[in-house]
Amino acid sequence: MQKMRASDRKNISLLRKEVIIYMFIGIAGFLIILLGFILKPPQTYYKLKDVALGTYVNIVIGSNKINPERIAKAILDELKRLTVKFDPRNPKSIIHKINEANGDWVSVDEETFTLIKASIRFAQITDGAFDPTLGKLIELWGFDVMKPHLPTDDEIKETLKHSGYKNVLFDDKNMRVKLLNGIKLDLGGIAKGYALEKARQIAKSFDPDVTGFVEAGGDIRIIGPKFGREPWVVAIKDPRKEEPTDFIYLLDGAVATSGDYERFFEMNGRRYHHILDPKTGYPARGTWSATVIAEDAVTADALATAAFVLGKDWRFVVLEFPKLRGHVMLVLEGGTIKKSDTFKLFEREE
Ligand code: AMP
Ligand code: MG
Repeated sequence: MQKMRASDRKNISLLRKEVIIYMFIGIAGFLIILLGFILKPPQTYYKLKDVALGTYVNIVIGSNKINPERIAKAILDELKRLTVKFDPRNPKSIIHKINEANGDWVSVDEETFTLIKASIRFAQITDGAFDPTLGKLIELWGFDVMKPHLPTDDEIKETLKHSGYKNVLFDDKNMRVKLLNGIKLDLGGIAKGYALEKARQIAKSFDPDVTGFVEAGGDIRIIGPKFGREPWVVAIKDPRKEEPTDFIYLLDGAVATSGDYERFFEMNGRRYHHILDPKTGYPARGTWSATVIAEDAVTADALATAAFVLGKDWRFVVLEFPKLRGHVMLVLEGGTIKKSDTFKLFEREE
């Protein structure tokens, strides 16, 4: 038998090494592909429609780890919890309790304390255009009970005296809130945004890679890009027509629209709607709708209400609101559209 030469032996061991390396590459490749399949964002979405926050809600969820139906139901429960908690008309609501405290200090939970503080901060940075203390005026107009009517000038003047965000006092140490001057809180311009923000948090607590969005009455919080990579296409309602006036593309963040078509009545050819100008006590004039894109739904909601009120001063709004982290599109009375340059970043050339 011929003896194997040392160089042959070396070649064989090299060959073995090569085979092992190729096998290793093969297995690694297979594992990567397998992992890709496991982690791949879903191609289908679970959709849940219901009523909460005084409007229609639409929850669209995709997850590979958790049954998306479970996530959507948990979100709906949360939206319903917050609907009760922040509705000033509901006797179970903490806002009701604060409003009925006759100017005494009221101890509140952290969530309430933080949201009321945030609402006052939006009042400060919008110079009072957003004002969460219009409760009495909203009652006077009857928008709270969906039975709006036209009050007299005197009634409006008198009620206006019992409003103003500077009348809210905070006791940080004991987490207490106190209302001065007979004012009443109404968080209707920000609570929906807060609820949408919480909805996203809940979804992420089930699965950090969850995708989808939550919509409440046209306000939207993105939970994650479509199929994990594509933007959601959001239609912006035309305030006077059925078809959309614009489309935006969102991978993340939120968008909110305030419009004079949401809740209104007409009298003597004039439209009276639910967004009040805190300076006059009357429905804000000059704007048909205001849409704000922001990183979070609280900012989008509060700034959309403020942008609507300030719409007459559209130059200020489209230029200054991006500094408050809100990108604005206004549809002014008559239909003229004005946008922040930053808003256009979310549109696409047709
Ligand atoms: P939105 O649809 O987000 O603009 O909120 C409108 C709701 O906010 C109204 O139904 C009222 O409850 C409340 N609201 C009305 N006017 C204002 C205002 N100027 N600032 C803050 N909230 C307001
Ligand atoms: Mg709002």
